[in-house]
Amino acid sequence: MRDINRREFLKIAGAASIVGLLGGWEAVELLAPGELEAKYLAKPEALTARRWAMVVDMKKMDEAIAKRCIEVCHYVHNVPDIGDPKREIKWIWLESFEHAFPHRNHEHVAERLKEKRFLVFCNHCNNPPCVRVCPTKATWKRDDGIVMMDQHRCIGCRYCMAACPFGARSFNWGDPRLFIKKGYPGYPTREKGVVEKCNFCAERLAKGLMPSCVEASKGALVFGDLAETTSEVRGILKSHYTIRRKLSLGTEPSVFYMV
Ligand code: SF4
Ligand code: SF4
Repeated sequence: MRDINRREFLKIAGAASIVGLLGGWEAVELLAPGELEAKYLAKPEALTARRWAMVVDMKKMDEAIAKRCIEVCHYVHNVPDIGDPKREIKWIWLESFEHAFPHRNHEHVAERLKEKRFLVFCNHCNNPPCVRVCPTKATWKRDDGIVMMDQHRCIGCRYCMAACPFGARSFNWGDPRLFIKKGYPGYPTREKGVVEKCNFCAERLAKGLMPSCVEASKGALVFGDLAETTSEVRGILKSHYTIRRKLSLGTEPSVFYMV
């Protein structure tokens, strides 16, 4: 996705509220109230936090580990492999430094960083513009900071995609089920006409499991509670230099890069 400045960004983010007034409300009622939330209600074994956050340790992360993370995430979420960059569906992917951190190009950046590709995904922003613009509340932020997506409520308007300055959302232009090589029974597939993205593995957290990418990362991804002073994530932020993507836009990403 092209980079946008703050002014354009706020314009897009504001535009979709009109749609909310024009009749997106019926779609909210497609799902019985509380039906989806109930699926993710904390069970005794669930991992919980006040604000989930991810740290990508760029000293440990390499292309092989990153590819493994992508493979595992896309497998356990039935993400289709379309094979066409214009229509691709991605929950987690590799991005060059210039694209991941366009606002930092003018700063002094170590050569080793410029040459690296960064593993990127939904930032589960604390101030998520995608949530503000959705006319049907198909996307929302949970109390623990995870920005969720309910494909049953999605009407395919793609306002959330326009509002996300990170390109973290993908749209199913066709039937994604035709492009899933090996189906994973533990996660629902989607249909044509809906948006999807990383959910910080909410379905796994509910079962007491860490996100799939974290498990596959050999320690290069650290996931934990940003609001907990004793958490590993907080320890890293205290003692290491970290950067976040496009901070000037004010979305407050929950994904940090330890560089
Ligand atoms: S990265 Fe994009 S999709 Fe994810 S919460 Fe932020 S604005 Fe929304
Ligand atoms: S947190 Fe889960 S959904 Fe998000 S990129 Fe990692 S494996 Fe994929």
